[in-house]
Amino acid sequence: MTNLATPYRTHTCGALRAADAGSTVRLAGWVHRRRDMGHLIFIDLRDRHGITQVVIDADLAPAAHAVASRVRSEFVLSVDGEVAERLPGTHNPRLATGDVELHATGVTVLSEAKTPPFYINDPDAPVDEALRLTYRYLDIRRQPMTERLMLRSALVRAIRDVHHEHGFVEIETPNLIKSTPEGARDFIVPSRLQPGTVYALPQSPQQLKQLLMVAGIDRYFQIARCFRDEDLRGDRQPEFTQLDLEMSFVTEETVMEFVETMIVEVSRRVVPDRPIQQVPFPRFTYEEALERFGSDKPDLRFGLELVDLASALGAPAPSGFRVFDDVLAAGGRVRAVRGPGMGAISRHHMDELVELSKRWGAKGLAHVSVGEDGSLHSPIGKFLGEETLRSIADAAGAERGDLVLIVADSFETSSEVLGRLRLEIGSRLGLADPHVLAYCWVHRFPMYQWDEEFTRWDATHNPFSGTVPEDLHLLTTVSGDLAVRSPDDPAGTARALQYDVALNGWELGGGSIRIHRRDELERSFLLQGHTLEGMYEKFGGMLEAFDYGAPPHGGIALGVDRWTALFSDQTNIREVMAFPKTQSGSDLMLGAPSAPDTAQWSELGLRYVGPAKD
Ligand code: ASP
Repeated sequence: MTNLATPYRTHTCGALRAADAGSTVRLAGWVHRRRDMGHLIFIDLRDRHGITQVVIDADLAPAAHAVASRVRSEFVLSVDGEVAERLPGTHNPRLATGDVELHATGVTVLSEAKTPPFYINDPDAPVDEALRLTYRYLDIRRQPMTERLMLRSALVRAIRDVHHEHGFVEIETPNLIKSTPEGARDFIVPSRLQPGTVYALPQSPQQLKQLLMVAGIDRYFQIARCFRDEDLRGDRQPEFTQLDLEMSFVTEETVMEFVETMIVEVSRRVVPDRPIQQVPFPRFTYEEALERFGSDKPDLRFGLELVDLASALGAPAPSGFRVFDDVLAAGGRVRAVRGPGMGAISRHHMDELVELSKRWGAKGLAHVSVGEDGSLHSPIGKFLGEETLRSIADAAGAERGDLVLIVADSFETSSEVLGRLRLEIGSRLGLADPHVLAYCWVHRFPMYQWDEEFTRWDATHNPFSGTVPEDLHLLTTVSGDLAVRSPDDPAGTARALQYDVALNGWELGGGSIRIHRRDELERSFLLQGHTLEGMYEKFGGMLEAFDYGAPPHGGIALGVDRWTALFSDQTNIREVMAFPKTQSGSDLMLGAPSAPDTAQWSELGLRYVGPAKD
């Protein structure tokens, strides 16, 4: 055991056991609870390690008793005394130290405390989140937050250990850099020494880690802080932490294999009691993931795969229901998901599902329900006829009492809506075992997506990703300044050597095999609408480096905040960050962001000319 003794304590508040009875010790910690019985005062003394019951007897230790009678919750104390086994019947099995108590001989107040704005000793008491963030140091004193930060620390440690065991070098890259795009807005930092210029905070260390490969480092990793200036959602923060890694002389297979080994090792070390659903992790192409689960980050803890209804509808012959026929004729899809045992869904709940589907982009939501007697019911039955309804139910694998939800739309929209409906059904029916870790890979993403606004192709992930070899010929239309920029360009169908890893329906991370040849990288930039000059201005350093011998390389980044959240059953990454920001990007505790003082403005040669602030 690590020795945590200091002049203020011989033991932590979680250390004492029955075997210590009779020894003289000194503890230090916060007053968790105090019960004044007059003659006897009981104090539960708490630190991060645990709680020890202290008993102060007015007869045996009158001076200590006098001090103890004026202490309040959250005072910081140092207590001397003798460890005693508790009397029979007063043992507390809920405390690791529950067999003993400390008979105080002296109590010293190290710090007084005001009454805290919320209960620290009641982890289940609901507390307004703004209050928690304003007094985060008190929130962290509460056991659930302490435990999550400890879990996070264990995760980061396991990550480091496993990487070192596999020959990786941990290297820090700077935070004041030139823009490295990951599709978000940069945070910028004005330079004082070079007025009128700015640094960007890294959206990721992408370019730097690739340069480390050019530098011959071979295997790099970093627990990297990344900054992205975008609107905050549940699982987004303006700054967050990634496990960032890069490897040289690798193929997609090499990276996926290592990452999988690493993830399994780390999971087993950090959350040994949580089963991993399947190793090797299931792999899906992007197309297949959308086809089967309607998502590129499928939750595999339950089935309910999406089914295509074209043949059940007798396509290409008309089905009798115009909406379906029109969608199919236009190249769209009619697909379905099954709701087991949901056949008797109330009108109200059905309306709710229709509303949700519309919010997710569907024009409507059709359904067929199977009665307990096997009879079929559907508002569109009069168009389709009994036989087609039966084929739909069969295609969807619906049994007595089941519901079939049907969306007719483009592949993308039907995937999006049915994918979400699948999750909705899963959560209503409690189908996903919260204990299981279902990791999977999704790869072969499209290289580019068409950007209507700027009439150009944007990299779906980042512009450095390589192309699946079979698709390289699709890119040959792009050369020099003649970059073809139309949504019909065959380059748009090229697939990237990009792989994402998902866990229980969350995107845990993503990476790719990179382009390591200068001409190919230039072509990729051109396709994305960069001019030659713009490209050199933005990525000149990296392009030049590729002239000096870049090894084939690839890597990945995994979200450390998300991983910790998933390991600790949280749905919001704020719960696993020590000092997160609010939805509007504020630090409520320190009061950031705040206006710089006049001297800071003028040193930087800046003046605020925007709208007045409150
Ligand atoms: N830089 C990428 C990201 O931040 C990860 C990678 O491709 O390695 O998402």
